[in-house]
Amino acid sequence: MNILVINCGSSSLKFQLIDAETEKMIAKGICERIGIEGSQIVYSPAGGEKETNVTPMANHTDAIRLVLEALTNEKTGVVKSLDEIGAVGHRIVHGGEKFASSTVINDDVLKAIEECNELAPLHNPANLIGINACKELMPETPMVAVFDTAFHQTMPEKAYLYGLPISYYEKYKVRRYGFHGTSHSYVSKRAAEVLGKNYEDLKIIVCHLGNGASISAVKNGKCVDTSMGLTPLEGLIMGTRSGDIDPAIIEFIAHKENKNIDEVMTILNKKSGVYGMSNDLSSDFRDLEAAYLKGDKYAIATMETFAYKVAKYIGSYVAAMNGVDVICFTAGVGENSPFIREKILNNYLGYLGVKLDDAANNKRGEDIAISTADSATTVMVIPTNEELAIARETYELTK
Ligand code: AMP
Repeated sequence: MNILVINCGSSSLKFQLIDAETEKMIAKGICERIGIEGSQIVYSPAGGEKETNVTPMANHTDAIRLVLEALTNEKTGVVKSLDEIGAVGHRIVHGGEKFASSTVINDDVLKAIEECNELAPLHNPANLIGINACKELMPETPMVAVFDTAFHQTMPEKAYLYGLPISYYEKYKVRRYGFHGTSHSYVSKRAAEVLGKNYEDLKIIVCHLGNGASISAVKNGKCVDTSMGLTPLEGLIMGTRSGDIDPAIIEFIAHKENKNIDEVMTILNKKSGVYGMSNDLSSDFRDLEAAYLKGDKYAIATMETFAYKVAKYIGSYVAAMNGVDVICFTAGVGENSPFIREKILNNYLGYLGVKLDDAANNKRGEDIAISTADSATTVMVIPTNEELAIARETYELTK
């Protein structure tokens, strides 16, 4: 059965068609600048030529129509008709407390997702638009919602409550939710599988270090803590997001720079993180690493602070779980930067008996242990695959 995986943003739409039985990607692509001049669809059939087609897309329905046309195109398509798409899996950013697992989409589910909109005003409405566009074009095809927050719903109260008046939780559900759940779940399970160990017996820390970054503590197969909070702004230093700061800084900067709350929040989300710290050099770790090696003082301070913060979170999750068996690195930086991994492991994790295998640390693109056989804690690189995880969940619920 072929599953179409849709990840819909406000002006973009990523898609992948996956054969759920073989777990092979059949085709993938992205629609960009939806509703903006210069919109385009990039389409890559597995093993075929990548095509870019600049064409108007007034809205997400137009975008999905183009995706379906590309997939069924006589020459470059990968399926003969839409009947060969058995189900659609949608990535949904926020499921609030309503969704602790993936679910088949019906009218009640749509309403419940809509009720989570105010928790993720930038993301959930776009996700819903994607669902409605598919509903319009493929009304008979079952659809599944896979939530970024669901995996973290097992966090205990002590991990998700903030030190705020409890009425804010009771009235508005202000609490920690966590994100990247599909990735944390996929990577932690895969680590156990690669090690040939029982998932339920392990204490695993997953470091998802990409443009957005988060860490989770997974004990006996359940998430017990994670670094992102009510929104993805909390936690680690990210590409352009600040991560944890003293909340009083918001008022301080607003006064000093004569800005309102919205403007300060935009700075925390879009102009901070490694980008802001490096004096606007770059949010891309490749650029920062190159600048670091040339002795750029901002790049050095940025990378050192980033690694230190990751190590501090790892330490706190060792405490939360009273130990750790496996530490996993994943996502753009976690998978591709031996430099950052070495900094975190060699500078800070000696107390866990971590011994880095330098040759393994310099390999790329594999599920691999990067610690030596006699390392007291196993460290792994596990490339994440959120699309495959969404396809699996969708298949389980619709096959
Ligand atoms: P993601 O959000 O998981 O797609 O990660 C994207 C980020 O991964 C980019 O912004 C880069 O900073 C980082 N990245 C990708 N390739 C490399 C690399 N070879 N070395 C260091 N960082 C990388």
